[in-house]
Amino acid sequence: MLSNKTALITGSTSGIGLGIAKALAQQGANIVLNGFGDVEGPKAEIAALGVKVEYHGADMSKPAEIEAMMGYAAEQFGRVDILVNNAGIQHVAKVEDFPVEKWDAILAINLSSAFHATRLALPAMRTANWGRVINVASVHGLVGSAEKSAYVAAKHGVVGLTKVTALETASTGVTCNAICPGWVLTPLVQKQVDAKAAAQGISNDDAIKLLLGEKEPSMQFTTPEELGALAVFFCSPAGNNVRGVAWNMDGGWVAQ
Ligand code: NAD
Repeated sequence: MLSNKTALITGSTSGIGLGIAKALAQQGANIVLNGFGDVEGPKAEIAALGVKVEYHGADMSKPAEIEAMMGYAAEQFGRVDILVNNAGIQHVAKVEDFPVEKWDAILAINLSSAFHATRLALPAMRTANWGRVINVASVHGLVGSAEKSAYVAAKHGVVGLTKVTALETASTGVTCNAICPGWVLTPLVQKQVDAKAAAQGISNDDAIKLLLGEKEPSMQFTTPEELGALAVFFCSPAGNNVRGVAWNMDGGWVAQ
């Protein structure tokens, strides 16, 4: 379905981004990976799906590096047809204790990077009259949780950016939508499980039960594969007129 298309997924060396990259590659899209840590493993996993794969190590907190990454993708593949703004970090502390540099980093990586990548991707999408911008927001783009001020503010911002981008492209073949996962067991969440286990002197399994029990009525994690399938739907012809939605996949979290 997506052969001859190129997808760039930010923060795709791990977790949800890698899951979405694999799902798009399974549909035939060429992939540009981005993110830190092990690169060769994810690259090999994508290449094994029979598509072309490139990597750019832009730090998503730095607009000049984002610009270099978008230029590199265009150089390698002609243009970016599918942009998945996924890179994100978390920090947990009360507002009055929140480290200012963490606030700035979360706003830059979780929100401003999506603005920069989107503004740089849209011109070529408009020329082609086809494009997909998929923003990985969160349930925290829809509701709040204590001690996550920067993350919740950034993710609400991502949902707002999604709506505006969708409106500005509404008469074209370009769409923009957001995905709002509940808990997904990636390294980002394992850190929160570890912190809970350490703080309460409980096992990993008990900390997971506590974490899910607080917010997610299904008591199940959403998986990167399920989120990848939702991204594929947004890219399918059935998604042509889905514009500006913030679609939660959250085990009932925001239904409460
Ligand atoms: P993860 O830690 O597994 O992956 C994050 C990715 O972003 C990694 O590839 C990492 O290298 C990359 N990254 C971090 N800082 C970066 C930077 N400055 N520049 C470039 N890349 C950078 O986390 P994840 O859980 O897969 O999170 C992916 C996205 O999903 C994030 O936006 C997160 O907020 C969102 N999300 C996660 C959950 C969850 O429960 N895990 C729920 C809702 C939303």
